[in-house]
Amino acid sequence: MPRRFGAYGGAYVPETLVPALEELARTWREARRDPSFRRELRTLSETLGGRPTPLYFARNLTRRAGGAEIWLKREDLVHGGAHKFNNALGQGLLARRMGKPRLIAETGAGQHGVATAMIGAALGLRTEVYMGVVDMRRQRPNVERMQLLGARIHPVTTGSRTLKDAINAALRDWIANVRTTHYLLGSAVGPHPFPSLVADFQSVIGREIRRQSVRAFGRLPDLAVACVGGGSNAIGTFHPLLATSVDLLGVEAGGRSPRSAGAASLTRGRPGILHGTFSYVLQDADGQVADTESVSAGLDYAGVGPEHAWLRDTGRARYLAVRDRDALTAFRWLAQDEGILPALEPSHAVFAAVREAHRRPSSQHVVVTLSGRGDKDLEVVRRAPR
Ligand SMILES: *Cc1c(COP(=O)(O)O)cnc(C)c1O
Repeated sequence: MPRRFGAYGGAYVPETLVPALEELARTWREARRDPSFRRELRTLSETLGGRPTPLYFARNLTRRAGGAEIWLKREDLVHGGAHKFNNALGQGLLARRMGKPRLIAETGAGQHGVATAMIGAALGLRTEVYMGVVDMRRQRPNVERMQLLGARIHPVTTGSRTLKDAINAALRDWIANVRTTHYLLGSAVGPHPFPSLVADFQSVIGREIRRQSVRAFGRLPDLAVACVGGGSNAIGTFHPLLATSVDLLGVEAGGRSPRSAGAASLTRGRPGILHGTFSYVLQDADGQVADTESVSAGLDYAGVGPEHAWLRDTGRARYLAVRDRDALTAFRWLAQDEGILPALEPSHAVFAAVREAHRRPSSQHVVVTLSGRGDKDLEVVRRAPR
């Protein structure tokens, strides 16, 4: 498991956390070689999570784009309604293996909190979730889901009262309770080993894409597209395709206007340290972390996973930002063309995928990872100007 991706990554944390991070890395190294662990991970992915998820040919959306075929990797059909389950299950099993009875998590859109609360219930682990009060307000249904699943919510009132502050609060809790508690980090960010660990658990997405593409259209896609918040569904999509010639496109949240920073760390940020890792960060001239804004709470994060920083610099993957308005447009396309209500996060990726497909011949195939379903976003979409 790499600690660094070029200069990026590492573990910039207080000394008190180092033993816990090392224990986590060691536990995963052992577990991934343990057939009984792998069997349990696979069985629960299938029987609780609903894997494998289908690869769906979006015929009408393809017609709208007027170019390459568009295929959707249906992570919106995973238990809980997003890809977050894949990582929560994997880390939940590791927590149990380490003998830690308590899970803590941060959440932005609430999807990671819901996934963690589900896994906590299924594996019999106590679950507590940190969430900014701004996010609690805009993602009310997920707050209620977490509570019904038996999780305790800690409202976070510091800073911008969104995801970044929830991560800070969860890290403080972990430092104080590290012996009994596993911090179930929700994206491919944070100190080593989290970026590699989360990428491993999410790579099931890309492995299935590889297999299903060959079965569905006889070869690998020409382009794979995924939205990038912290970057976990994107790195899970990209990882198994890195050694191929498939083009990779990550789509960040461009926010309200072309001039706003949105939450586009890779396209509008600079290298810096945030939450224990060296990567691209939206920051001011003094290195203070900037406030982000996006119509989708799940992309609203000033940092990004360090492996994406490296893929960007080396040119193996390309990244661009799509603004709120275009994501809302893509949401309506998918609803009306295909009868699918996507989350606003992957709606950013769908918009970029349609534009890319338009520029490519009909002989090509574009796969876009539909990271989650849109039930949580209906209120936001309803209130948005059209
Ligand atoms: C959390 C979330 C994201 C963003 O997280 P990544 O780690 O970048 O994948 C994207 N889509 C959905 C549906 C989410 O819930």
